[in-house]
Amino acid sequence: MIEHTSWEEIFAIVDTMKIDPSFYDFYNWVIEKNLKFIILSDGFQKYINRILEHNEIEVESLDILANDVDLVDNKLELTFNTPECVHGCANCKYSHVLKLKDEGYKIIYIGDGLSDILPAVELADIIYAKKNEDLANKLAGDSRLIVFETFSKIKKDIEKRFS
Ligand SMILES: [Zn+2]
Repeated sequence: MIEHTSWEEIFAIVDTMKIDPSFYDFYNWVIEKNLKFIILSDGFQKYINRILEHNEIEVESLDILANDVDLVDNKLELTFNTPECVHGCANCKYSHVLKLKDEGYKIIYIGDGLSDILPAVELADIIYAKKNEDLANKLAGDSRLIVFETFSKIKKDIEKRFS
């Protein structure tokens, strides 16, 4: 954990981060199709917004659930999205997805990391997992699993399934 920092220092790192180029077309297609689309992150709202804006993606049209971070006397102050989570998640992806499932949504889960395993395994109807990452490795053999490298594959696959 960084003890002393500033937004300039944080953004200097954040501003080097690039969005997967295949995401743009996928994202536009999701908006056009009027699909409910939510970004769940273990990260922090402030720099997620910064990355998206820096890469010319409109933050206002996105539903992002993440943690929050502030700087108080140059020290990071973290606010977790779901401090009450029984799994100990900072931002409980499981509970966010469960809410949507209870509302009747079909769950198409796109993920890569360790924090995606529980919600994907327990709640998803279809799982897109990034190749060679924890989620794909852990779910090998699951009939709902589709391993992807780019978002264009996800778009094509969803179109094929629901056309
Ligand atoms: Zn949790």
